Amino acid sequence: MDGKDYIAYFTMEIGLSEDIKTYSGGLGILAGDTVRSAADLGIRMVVVTLLHRKGYFRQRLDASGWQTEEDAIWPIADQLEEMEPRCTMEIEGRRLQLRAWKYEVKGVSGYSVPVIFLDTDLEQNAEQDRAITDHLYGGDVRYRICQEAVLGVGGVRMLSALGYNDIKRYHMNEGHAALLILELAHEFARQAWDLAYEPVSHTVTMEHLQLVKPKCIFTTHTPVPAGHDKFSVEQVRQVVTGYGEAFAELEHEFCPKNVLNMTYLALENSYYVNGVAKRHGEVTQQLFSKYDIHSITNGVHTATWAAPPIARLFDERIPGWREDNQSLRYALNISKRDIWAVHRQAKDILIGKVKELTGVSLAPDVFTIGFARRAAEYKRADLLFQDIDRLVEIAGKGGALQLVYAGKAHPQDMPGKELIRRIHEIKEILKGKIKLVYLEDYGIEMAKLITAGVDLWLNTPQPPLEASGTSGMKAAVNGVPSFSILDGWWAEGCIEGVTGWSIGADKNAVLGSGETREEDAQALYNKLEMVILPMFNNEPDRYSDVMRHSIALNASFFNTERMLTQYISKAYYR
Ligand SMILES: *Cc1c(COP(=O)(O)O)cnc(C)c1O
Repeated sequence: MDGKDYIAYFTMEIGLSEDIKTYSGGLGILAGDTVRSAADLGIRMVVVTLLHRKGYFRQRLDASGWQTEEDAIWPIADQLEEMEPRCTMEIEGRRLQLRAWKYEVKGVSGYSVPVIFLDTDLEQNAEQDRAITDHLYGGDVRYRICQEAVLGVGGVRMLSALGYNDIKRYHMNEGHAALLILELAHEFARQAWDLAYEPVSHTVTMEHLQLVKPKCIFTTHTPVPAGHDKFSVEQVRQVVTGYGEAFAELEHEFCPKNVLNMTYLALENSYYVNGVAKRHGEVTQQLFSKYDIHSITNGVHTATWAAPPIARLFDERIPGWREDNQSLRYALNISKRDIWAVHRQAKDILIGKVKELTGVSLAPDVFTIGFARRAAEYKRADLLFQDIDRLVEIAGKGGALQLVYAGKAHPQDMPGKELIRRIHEIKEILKGKIKLVYLEDYGIEMAKLITAGVDLWLNTPQPPLEASGTSGMKAAVNGVPSFSILDGWWAEGCIEGVTGWSIGADKNAVLGSGETREEDAQALYNKLEMVILPMFNNEPDRYSDVMRHSIALNASFFNTERMLTQYISKAYYR
């Protein structure tokens, strides 16, 4: 095989389809959308991830809204093709054999990008090691190090076993894959030892690392300091074995205070580092002032997220939009009436699904707000309910409101689970006044229905913690305007009253600048009451113009096609 010059994209999670349960949220969906656009653009890319046989988890919510988790087992052999080559590595001094499964992502013109899933569930492996590739973000710290070793070290070895030699660049989607740096450095060192005439000491040096750096690209995805993996050196040494004393000299270099910080490992050894929106790039630069942090704003794969009625309209009116996302600017030539009509079709589909799942009948004419994303605390899913009386009053005056919520909390995230429970409590309080549904087990298919079927996409993160956010971009593809805090991508995407609306002023918040919860809630209520609801109810023509601009100005730009062309020129082939 001609395996030269590939971009190897390493990611702990990836959202390829509803039935491949290897994603938890935005990071994985972004990976999936990136690969879909890479296939569309014909980029020589190969993707490495873990199999996650039991998925992230299937969310169950009891009547009170308390979340429990079940394994999300998926039919692997039906979806993926088992590959023959194997590779080996070491974990805790034991030999570990890895198997690879392949999935091909097909692009618009037939080019396909292979995604390699690493699997440790082989008879030859020790019982406990067979479970390493079972659960995405599951288990304890030791389990996480095992997984990251398989991804980073095993991933590099598997690529060469599969015939990918001379990889052009390694792109780390978040720090989880940073152990690949050690494997690459060791590989360069080994080549040097083999060539030496004199006996050499078998240690990896800074010179070897200098060879790694031009090959690596690192994209960081969160400004939350706790979101960066840190492991004790002792624990890493116990798990990541097989290198002898090769890294002894470098340990102090990367592990101040005997901690291995995966973000620093990646920052220090990547020639290009970026955040995922302009604002996030700036915040990251403040966090890591020693490094040069760039930014490439995230996007979504337009054709994946356009609901069928919208896609049909685009097919008719903007031929070629799937291979040329920029042409969505011509949505301005589509009549507002047509935009409104296809949106109503998408809304009807959502309403049908809500009825099927919950028994609740939403009304097609009532203004409907959507909020769906991981139930992480900083996303403040309950900000809309800061003052319930005020919300009810607004709905009473403004001609009713309906709310569609969804999202999973990480199994160990108690505040996140508490947030979901609280929204269920609020659902009861609002009974007879505002219809609120919380849909169980948020995933790709549900995201498609909600982002297309509501009238307004709400996002209320605590700034500056939303690195990018992508669900609002999916809404934009479907002509659904965002109403959001100016953080992440919305600081770029918001043109007030034209593509959607901001909540509060642009505070350009710095980390740790504290809560603005009450202020943000007031700003939210005021604009909802005075601007958005009146426009929707009394001036549908103006509202559909905002919808149209969210397609023409935002979907045409905040897509993974534009994003990847930036990665190509700034990082991949520079
Ligand atoms: C897009 C998406 C996300 C990310 O949503 P954000 O608003 O960017 O946090 C999470 N989960 C699923 C299933 C998605 O489709």
